Amino acid sequence: AKDKGRSNTQIYNGRLSKMMSRKFVIEQGLRKAVDKREFSLLYQPIVHVQTKKIVGFEALIRWNYPVLGELLPLEFIPAAEETGEIISIGEWVLRQAIADCKSWQRGRSPIYVTVNISARQVEQPELIQRINGILAEKGLAQEYLKLEITEGAAMTNIDRLLPQFRKLQDAGVDIALDDFGTGYSSLNYLKIFPIKTLKIDRSFVKDIHKDPKQEAIIKTMAALAENLQLDLIAEGVEQEQQIAFLKEIGCYKMQGYYFQKPVPADEVRMLLRDN
Ligand code: C2E
Ligand code: CA
Ligand code: CA
Ligand code: CA
Repeated sequence: AKDKGRSNTQIYNGRLSKMMSRKFVIEQGLRKAVDKREFSLLYQPIVHVQTKKIVGFEALIRWNYPVLGELLPLEFIPAAEETGEIISIGEWVLRQAIADCKSWQRGRSPIYVTVNISARQVEQPELIQRINGILAEKGLAQEYLKLEITEGAAMTNIDRLLPQFRKLQDAGVDIALDDFGTGYSSLNYLKIFPIKTLKIDRSFVKDIHKDPKQEAIIKTMAALAENLQLDLIAEGVEQEQQIAFLKEIGCYKMQGYYFQKPVPADEVRMLLRDN
């Protein structure tokens, strides 16, 4: 038993140092990743199920890091937030997403792009100027760009973020509260927070038709959105029966694998061909 204990500890330490070095390797790589053009964006359509048309695309970052391979944002965005690298990465995302979105508008109904932003970006005093500068440079109007911030990030930093969000709203850039339902919003904050859209977190959509309580909670979110006159988007929609339920409660904008997995920019153009 004693031997076993020792070898477990060794395995544990081995894993731990491996994990620490992975984190270290990620932090190192992040510093040069923008310059080395290692990031790319995938786009996932947001679909209006009544008209069956795509209304916009969410930009989702990927990192093709030669040292570790293709990395998902959950593995490097928190590290980038910690080191501050998120500022330059976030700016790269905005430039790329705005340029791509501009290229999608070709005499058809407007298609917007929605970009995820971290609290640290929003706290930058010059964010609004930067965004306006990029929009002007690429020739895209403000209403084509929307920003998403997670409910958790928004509510923890509300005092510092609120004035910035007011300025963004005044500049004509809409804000969506992402992962809604996971971040403990006070209803009072929802009232003063200048948002246009609530995005129902995937975890709620997942258990539709399995859990009546979950259905009751989503229903309440939909009622809340309606009463506050907010747009509502359900994320993580994978099944037909989820769509049926969401329609029933008045949620018509959806995103999820049922419709489309996130795709590279050149496939966006194909998706828009008969939109
Ligand atoms: P999110 O904003 O909630 O984005 C939705 C995530 O769910 C994406 O994961 C997407 O690929 C995935 N997804 C979409 N539809 C389905 C579905 O039907 N089923 C399932 N199981 N998953 C689905 P992804 O791309 O790994 O992004 C993870 C998170 O990373 C995002 O969550 C967002 O918070 C963050 N993120 C992504 N891009 C950026 C970025 O450019 N900047 C910042 N700050 N955060 C980003
Ligand atoms: Ca999002
Ligand atoms: Ca989300
Ligand atoms: Ca999420």
